[in-house]
Amino acid sequence: MKLVAPWSVNALGHLTLEGVDLVDLARTAGTPLYVISEGIFRDRCRCYRVALGPNNRVVYAGKALLTMAIARLCSMEGLFLDVVSSGELYTAVKAGFPPERLYFHGNNKSIQEIEMGLELGVGCFVVDNQYELELLDAKAGALGKRQRILLRLTPGIEAHTHQYISTGQIDSKFGFPIATGAAAEAVQRALAASHLDLAGLHCHIGSQILRLDPFREAVRVMIDFAADVQRQTGWFPEEIDLGGGLGIRYTETDDPPSIESYAETLRQTLAESCQEKGLPLPRLTVEPGRSIAGPAGVTLYTVGSIKTIPEVRTYVAVDGGMTDNPRPALYQARYEAVLANRMGEPPALEVAVVGKCCESGDIIIPSIKLPRPRPGDIMAVFATGAYNYSMAMNYNRLPRPAMVLVREGEISTIVARETLEDLISHDRVPERLWM
Ligand SMILES: *Cc1c(COP(=O)(O)O)cnc(C)c1O
Repeated sequence: MKLVAPWSVNALGHLTLEGVDLVDLARTAGTPLYVISEGIFRDRCRCYRVALGPNNRVVYAGKALLTMAIARLCSMEGLFLDVVSSGELYTAVKAGFPPERLYFHGNNKSIQEIEMGLELGVGCFVVDNQYELELLDAKAGALGKRQRILLRLTPGIEAHTHQYISTGQIDSKFGFPIATGAAAEAVQRALAASHLDLAGLHCHIGSQILRLDPFREAVRVMIDFAADVQRQTGWFPEEIDLGGGLGIRYTETDDPPSIESYAETLRQTLAESCQEKGLPLPRLTVEPGRSIAGPAGVTLYTVGSIKTIPEVRTYVAVDGGMTDNPRPALYQARYEAVLANRMGEPPALEVAVVGKCCESGDIIIPSIKLPRPRPGDIMAVFATGAYNYSMAMNYNRLPRPAMVLVREGEISTIVARETLEDLISHDRVPERLWM
């Protein structure tokens, strides 16, 4: 793993991030610990904003990582925010995130969630299906409101990523398929709805996409569709939202496009497609999650038991696992790690890094070369900012880790570590069971 600023190694041979010694941090704050670099997070927000240009929108996908402090960072960086549940909506609003800059997503928003969104003044609902379209229209009407919406479409594109994070193909639970005619019908219905203001079209083709051609294809399919709709109805989207999906480098072999080349590809393809058809240029919106939060995060663990099976494998167990990072167990996601307290030592042994949960699938890294690990070493697993904390769970009743934000040597806790007391705080024991 090549380290570039704000990563470094200090004179003690310890890994540092933004000038913070991560070994010291692990020993004072405890492990497992999520560490987020404020500098990397903010840089990537800015990179997106600059690359997209002033009239276009960057909507951070909160599902990648959302806490109140993260919502504050997004707000300060001038981003919009995509929420998919009352929980994410509540987090954003409690953090003072301007509701008019919220996009409300989800394929099964409940009646309560729709009402909450309308009452709080969410700027834009991304409507996923016919049921939601009717419900939202009725609820907006009942509140005497006109709600701005986008329609989520399924463009029928293969994103070349894992099937569980691929969402653009026809056989998907998300959105109105273009190919079946459902999308065109939804536009007609949205235009006819008395309390909805159809502003544009949305698609999201998948996640951890490492090539640009699926995005190019998505733009073309969306503009082809918009052109057909314009011929039929006279309506043309003022906004085209292409979702998120740009991949990041988890391991040395991942080679993701830069944010700049991704943004340039989208802008150029959109401009060309519209020009070819003599159509006006809509606003371009993107919804990055992983590519903002992922590289900003690192997880620190303490090495515990080490089991060597001669001529088979050495298992190195850490004090977390699938509970704080379910991605390897869910879809064979790959990660890289180092021993943060022994950065000067060359790799000496191939090991499997495993967690402490009662599942054989609780493997963080199936195979990695490290200096021969010892109990008490601090292991750092890179690129864990996205879809780690947000997917964390309490399997085996493990408390969820704390999260700290580091900024130029300064350390702030942004999520407190769960306690044993927290774990039982929702338990109730009926009186008769105490007898
Ligand atoms: C998950 C998701 C995103 C973010 O995807 P990333 O791959 O994290 O960039 C954006 N928009 C929608 C609708 C999503 O479901």
